[in-house]
Amino acid sequence: MTALPDLCRRDLAVLWHPCTQMREHPGIMPLLPVARGEGAWLIGQDGTRHLDAVSSWWTNLFGHAEPRIATAIAQQAMTLEHVLLAGFTHEPAVRLAERLLDLAPPGLARVFYADNGSAAVEVALKMSFHAHRNRGDTRRTRFVTLSNSYHGETLGALSVGDIPLYRRTYAPLLLEPLFTPSPDAFNALPGEDAEACALRCADELATMLEQHGETVCALIVEPLVQCAGGMRMHHPAWLRRARELCDAHGVHLIADEIAVGFGRTGTMFACEQAGIAPDLMCLSKGITGGFMPLAAVLASPTIYETFLDDSRERAFLHSHSYSGNPLACAAALATLGIFDSDDVLARNAVTADKLASHGRRIAQHPNIADYRQSGMIFAFELMADPAALTPFPTSERIGLQIYRAALRHGLVLRPLGDVLYWMPPYCINDDDIAHLATATQAAIQEVLPCA
Ligand SMILES: *Cc1c(COP(=O)(O)O)cnc(C)c1O
Repeated sequence: MTALPDLCRRDLAVLWHPCTQMREHPGIMPLLPVARGEGAWLIGQDGTRHLDAVSSWWTNLFGHAEPRIATAIAQQAMTLEHVLLAGFTHEPAVRLAERLLDLAPPGLARVFYADNGSAAVEVALKMSFHAHRNRGDTRRTRFVTLSNSYHGETLGALSVGDIPLYRRTYAPLLLEPLFTPSPDAFNALPGEDAEACALRCADELATMLEQHGETVCALIVEPLVQCAGGMRMHHPAWLRRARELCDAHGVHLIADEIAVGFGRTGTMFACEQAGIAPDLMCLSKGITGGFMPLAAVLASPTIYETFLDDSRERAFLHSHSYSGNPLACAAALATLGIFDSDDVLARNAVTADKLASHGRRIAQHPNIADYRQSGMIFAFELMADPAALTPFPTSERIGLQIYRAALRHGLVLRPLGDVLYWMPPYCINDDDIAHLATATQAAIQEVLPCA
């Protein structure tokens, strides 16, 4: 064992890390001291380089320390760092709202700011409930969510999530939503394609709304990809049908595009691929290019107008101290500027094809039961016996073993259970892609050797 770097030693004396069993540091789970970032790479204090294939939890779009975003933040910091957004306004907040509404699916007309994804989900849930109430409909108190969904960690957001590892412990504290089956194409029945699977699941949603529709505020969904749920993907036909069903039952549709927004699935927003517009849309993560915490909830005019009245009670009295922070808005404006100046979506289509050709090759490994892609998201489902769909025993922690092996090869993969995925920064270049493919293959081969 080499001695623990000084920074790690100090860290482990004072910090409590997110999503971590602290007992596993540093023996089972290494702790990586990062000195700086450069493009798709993280550079350690000792100069070691790791390619960030997970975009630092899906936040980074154009590389670490991207100079245009860094400069925009620095300039804004020397002009106006923050002012409360109740009763005050500023150019970055207004300009960003204008830009977001221009880009968003049609029919969204108002922008409410928060500072992280979970808070955006809380805002959307409260707004939906409150809008129905403002119309005099007090029966609607429940939410519909999908099996295997993830919407964040605060109590409201956790309530509408379905990942047992995160939810189970806190279940006694949570709201009880109605769960409808995820249209996840991986769960398609034998002989069923992704679209047929989506339509079968939509029929179940139809039945649920027929029974309970009058008590439901909103349906919340991660359009096209359930990211935290293992990068599970579905056919857009489900979203089209869900939109129709919500309309028929007076239920709001909340699109949680926190992970899939800003080009991840190939279009600016995933909803576009279904040709639908939600009533509320949650954005965060990539919105600032991965530089600053910021979230936005976009709302339809119909929802917004129910809040207009002489009474304070009808108003949406929710707030966060850092709502619409100018530094975060400046980072987001610089990020959207790069989408225009660098023709990012067109470039990503080319990058995604290069990644896919490596992905398909790696997917021939005998333990890979499924390989799937949506835009710049690529996932490999590892199983002990793919033919029989037998998973590895969880105690083997195959995903963790591959994580550790990948680190030794200069790569940050952060498997979700036994699902390996690539969700790299869009700036990933040909050399980076070659390294990503070689190191991924080497890490899998080390843990699961095959001839
Ligand atoms: C990450 C994520 C959230 C929560 O965002 P935080 O900023 O981590 O609170 C919510 N929904 C989805 C789909 C996410 O991927």
